[in-house]
Amino acid sequence: MLNMSRRHLVIGAGLATAFGLNSRLAIVGPVWAQPAPEAGKGVYKYKVGSVEVTALYDGVWKKPHDPAFIKNASIEDTKAALAKADMTTEYMPIPLTVIVLKVGDRLIMVDSGSGVGQWQPTAVSLPSNMQAAGIDPAKIGTILISHFHPDHIFGLMEKGSNAPIYPNAELVVNATEYKWWTEPGRVEKLPEARKALGTRIQTVFPTWKNFTLVEGEKEVAPGIRLVNAPGHTPGHSAFLVESGGKQLMISNDTAYVPALLAPHPEWQGAYDQDGPLAVETRRKLIDRIIADKIAVCGAHFPFPGTGTFAKDGAGYTFTPVNA
Ligand SMILES: [Zn+2]
Repeated sequence: MLNMSRRHLVIGAGLATAFGLNSRLAIVGPVWAQPAPEAGKGVYKYKVGSVEVTALYDGVWKKPHDPAFIKNASIEDTKAALAKADMTTEYMPIPLTVIVLKVGDRLIMVDSGSGVGQWQPTAVSLPSNMQAAGIDPAKIGTILISHFHPDHIFGLMEKGSNAPIYPNAELVVNATEYKWWTEPGRVEKLPEARKALGTRIQTVFPTWKNFTLVEGEKEVAPGIRLVNAPGHTPGHSAFLVESGGKQLMISNDTAYVPALLAPHPEWQGAYDQDGPLAVETRRKLIDRIIADKIAVCGAHFPFPGTGTFAKDGAGYTFTPVNA
């Protein structure tokens, strides 16, 4: 809806400042809806207090429309939501962005991207964008993991050998997530489409010694706290960054693709392992973000993956910030 985009253009920059995103950010026009940046432009830096955030674009899954994608909406409904957000309706665009935080002299990455050649042929850009950003992967000391779905953990493992790509980094994950996936007998209980994932997790992760399991909403790095956000997976987690009076909620997959789930937070994705709980968590987290004026980023938001939410009737509007 064009008038909606224009309204966002007008209020966007002010909102970004109001929500604590330091203004190296600028809002630009309807390109906000594009799922992919131009070649060579998949790096975007901004600050939250003294924390430097670098958004790195991994790529996009151009998912064919599928009636099972959202349990309580039709393909026509999802196409209408995409069109309303000025996005293509040719396919379901699911972009993927990974962020790296510089906290003091520490480099902390959130999730690992989807791994080259392991998820989608159109999502292989994390290594090249990391290089373009001047980030040496060997210097990443901590990786905060939101959950164990392929697009978030396959980048931890080499294709084929499963060798660790970050053997010296501390891998921080919610204990609930780790225990659920590695529980004996879990693979047999998974739906057919998830069995290969479960087998890979159970084969590889218990052999690694660099996992730190977090119980409860603890501080996981200086100024960064784990926030329980279950539903998408049992131990799915967000991370709240706080610095200099500014806050950023790294929401990971809580709001998934906001073109769909901002106006329809009640939609249950096939990818949400517990649909009703995912809806409850989504509303709770977005309500908190709005009440506390917290900036937000998400793994599947349009690149650079950050913006703000506002209340809109029974749902929300998402105003992205664009490079
Ligand atoms: Zn995801």
